[in-house]
Formats: sequence, C-alpha cells, structure tokens
Amino acid sequence: MKTTISKELKLQINREFLSAYQYFGMATWCALNGFAGSAHWFQLQAKEELEHGFKIYNYLLERDVAPELFPIEAPTINYKTLTDVFKHSLDQEKTIEAHLNGASVLAMEEKDHVTMKFLGWFLEEQIEEISSVQDILEKLNLAEGNNAALIMIDQQLASRS
Ligand code: MG
Repeated sequence: MKTTISKELKLQINREFLSAYQYFGMATWCALNGFAGSAHWFQLQAKEELEHGFKIYNYLLERDVAPELFPIEAPTINYKTLTDVFKHSLDQEKTIEAHLNGASVLAMEEKDHVTMKFLGWFLEEQIEEISSVQDILEKLNLAEGNNAALIMIDQQLASRS
C-alpha cells in the first residue's frame, strides 16, 4: 500500500475513535439533561464509530501496514439544546464524509482498487448516518419549543437497537 494512503487510513482510525468519543460526550449531555432515549442513541452511535475504527485498523494489519494509534482529544459535553447536540452530530458526520471522500480519491489516483472498494463501504455507511441524523433534526425542528413533542422524539430514539 502506498504511504500516502496508509497515512490517511491511520488518521482515519483516529477520526473514527474521536467521533466515538464525541458521541460519548453527546450521550453524557443527554443523560444529564433528561434525554435518556437520546443518550441511548448516542451510546450506540459511539459503539458504531469504534467498530469503524477497528475495521480500518484490521484492514491495515491485513495489508501488512503497522497501524499508529494517535492521541484522542477530550470531547465537549457542553451543549445548549437537544437540537444543538444533533447539529454537532451532523457536522461531525459531514467532516468524516469529506475525509473518506479524500481518502477514496487518493486510492483512485494510486490505482489501489482494493482500498477503493474498502472505502466504498464506509461512504455508503456515511450516507445512511447523515440521512438518519437529518431525519431526527427535521423532527426536532418541527417540535421546536414544544416539550411534549421533544419528550416523544426522545422516547422514539430509545428504541434504537
Ligand atoms: Mg464512522
């Protein structure tokens, strides 16, 4: 594997773990502010991001590349509202998507077809994640200022498995 690509994949492991940690922070804010359903939703989201990180880590090992484990920054747990939390989540996923697209272009330039295919799975996953966060944000916008509606949305998020 070309070092330009392996370097990017090593960084992506860190981004996925950072993303997990940020979701952990979001789960914490939700738990402390009465949104148990959303806290559950973000905990599961954090687990998914960890899985993504491991998937890239294992891919590097398979390709005989030594993964590097960079430090992970502390996440914020200061949010204003539940909508604010989900907005941050959307921004985060869009940033991850941009990085994955960049990595995919790099793999294309280097004619590394296996890595392109590998990253294709992640890009599809991003579409799903972004769309589900957008759906939740749309509902939250509709609920604006209505606590009963907010509680109902939170309860729906509790059913994520
Ligand atoms: Mg991810």
